[in-house]
Amino acid sequence: MKDLLTAPFLVDMVRTLTNMYRLGWDERNGGNVSLMLEEADVREYADPARVLRTIPTGFSAPALEGKYFLVTGTGKYFKNVQYAPEVNLGLVRLTGGGETAELLWGFTDGGKFTSEFPAHMMSHAARLAVDPANRVVMHCHPGNLLAMTYVHDLDEKAFTRTLWQMCTECIVVFPDGVNVLPWMLCGTNEIGEATAQKMKTARLVVWSQHGIYGAGKDLDETFGLIETAEKAAEIYMKIAHLPRINTITDAQLHLLEKRFGVRAREGWLEPAEG
Ligand SMILES: [Zn+2]
Repeated sequence: MKDLLTAPFLVDMVRTLTNMYRLGWDERNGGNVSLMLEEADVREYADPARVLRTIPTGFSAPALEGKYFLVTGTGKYFKNVQYAPEVNLGLVRLTGGGETAELLWGFTDGGKFTSEFPAHMMSHAARLAVDPANRVVMHCHPGNLLAMTYVHDLDEKAFTRTLWQMCTECIVVFPDGVNVLPWMLCGTNEIGEATAQKMKTARLVVWSQHGIYGAGKDLDETFGLIETAEKAAEIYMKIAHLPRINTITDAQLHLLEKRFGVRAREGWLEPAEG
């Protein structure tokens, strides 16, 4: 059996979490990430038959039966992951219709997965239903996106259109836009279900006055998605109090759609002329 600390997926996860901390998105124990893996990915590094502990999940997720997840631990700090991955991360397999997590590696101090595990697993199931290549769900607290939820209309179309207008590449990176949840109590099945519902139509879901969820096919893509939305929010927070003299128009957004072969969320741009 190879050392799991050398597995490419583990190295990728540690680097991503370290980078998220470096950008200030994950103060204290803020943020959580889950990466879905196949048995073939983990077999060289962990014996699927050797279950260290079983942990009830508190929800059901039949679509994820038998799936493996590398996931951050509850109460753990992203800043510490690079120094002790085996304490701060765990590899689990879902069984019993998703109601049980079997720990195969990690959480060596007796810990368990993030308190946002319901939101993660329900979001994985929702994204897999629309995109079978989805592997990652990522949650964090980027400052500008969070700030924007205090001063901007929370209507999803209005919020998305503002982000698209802030950087030319936004509509190319997230043509499906951003969905927005009102403030809700975190760590519950209710916010998990609401997030998963929103994940059916967009890969980014803002939690008002809290942070953001992103989903994607790998860690880089998902990180880049949040990074791009956060950059747009940063521009917005720099200009929101100033008279806006120029902007990116819907006609220009249509040119970007055409050039990059993407389709903006249906009805969220003014129809193209001609
Ligand atoms: Zn959070």
